[in-house]
Amino acid sequence: VEMKYIAICADGMADWPLDDYDGLTPMEIAVKPNMDDLAANGVIGSVQTIPEGMSPGSDTANMAVLGYDPRQYYTGRSPFEAVSMGIAMNDVDLSFRCNLVTLSSEEDISYEQRVMIDHGADDISSEEASILIAAVEKAFGSGDVNFYSGVSYRNLMLWQNCQDKFSLTPPHDILEKMILKYLPDKKSSSSNKILDYMQKSYDLLSKHPINLQRVKNKLHPANSIWLWGEGRKPDLMSFEKKYAIAGSVISAVDLIKGIGLCAGLMSVDVPGATGTIDTNYQGKVAAAMTALCTGSDFVYIHIEAPDECGHKGDTRSKIRAIELIDSEIIGPMRQLLAEKSIEYRMMVLPDHPTPLKIRTHVAEPVPFCIYDSTKQPLLKHKSGEKFSEKNAMVAGPFLPDGHKLMDIFLEREGCCGQHEEKE
Ligand SMILES: [Zn+2]
Repeated sequence: VEMKYIAICADGMADWPLDDYDGLTPMEIAVKPNMDDLAANGVIGSVQTIPEGMSPGSDTANMAVLGYDPRQYYTGRSPFEAVSMGIAMNDVDLSFRCNLVTLSSEEDISYEQRVMIDHGADDISSEEASILIAAVEKAFGSGDVNFYSGVSYRNLMLWQNCQDKFSLTPPHDILEKMILKYLPDKKSSSSNKILDYMQKSYDLLSKHPINLQRVKNKLHPANSIWLWGEGRKPDLMSFEKKYAIAGSVISAVDLIKGIGLCAGLMSVDVPGATGTIDTNYQGKVAAAMTALCTGSDFVYIHIEAPDECGHKGDTRSKIRAIELIDSEIIGPMRQLLAEKSIEYRMMVLPDHPTPLKIRTHVAEPVPFCIYDSTKQPLLKHKSGEKFSEKNAMVAGPFLPDGHKLMDIFLEREGCCGQHEEKE
């Protein structure tokens, strides 16, 4: 039987019990009949996607889910985005994520005393962001340092021929905190330069007409850049070589597209895919079906919304985001696959938890479920459980090495061992 493999990553979906909801998690509260059906008729378990000692980013987590051990392959977040944005990088170059953020805007305080209000400036539109990044490039861009606009607040700075090391902080980790302790240190001239760009960007951006208008419209102004996530050009082994299967990635965000592209997967652009709860769900389903019918036997569908809702601390929206993934992605996918009589394996999981309570990622295990439409004996037992953090933990196996999950999903487990490249 020809099988198609569909992995669905609901970014940041896993969470902690919520005090206001009788100790239930968003996954337990959300009405999600399709995920629950997959889990009940498939296997569930939990998996450690973030290797011990690494920081719980979507970069490391999604790499692991796609089968790449972050300990071996991770070279930083930003380079994946550079690949997705089509920016050429040399081995000696360093690329940085350049967020457009909202800092508190009290008068008569220094830059260091400002508070990180919003790591994404109210999900600023890509149109507005590109104008602001152009202004930043005009002011600070030079022969070896350049700024590129991406999607919404997720932009990029490329520093050619930079040998230095930095210690930079993700802005979504310091929401509502004073930035003083989290700014680049002044240990090197390069680090000072980064700090200088950030400081000066406040003066430039807080007065920019786009931000004056945003304030009028009661939107967070994108009044500073925030540089972090630096890294060098990645070198991933091809997914097709590793697993002997061709595949595609469908995501709104450059990071995930970039990881896919670096792994040799095709990246399908979906018009109106935004990375927010208002994303084009239908478009993602259509793109996935097209990919599956035109040479891809594997698709990786990534939905950013639950993570963003987690960062915002917005419980209702996070629950809604899970329900929408269930009703607008998983339900229609399964229906279309059944209509076309395509046998498939479907895996659903978050990359990492983004607990509403702390509004940032944690490095805890996440639940996964794997369903097989042919119900091969390989799936030893039906779980019979709803898909939740607790059920996955109690009922299922625990995988300490996240990058091995793909072997299980693609049934490459113990087949030959040769795809697992040892030194
Ligand atoms: Zn994530």
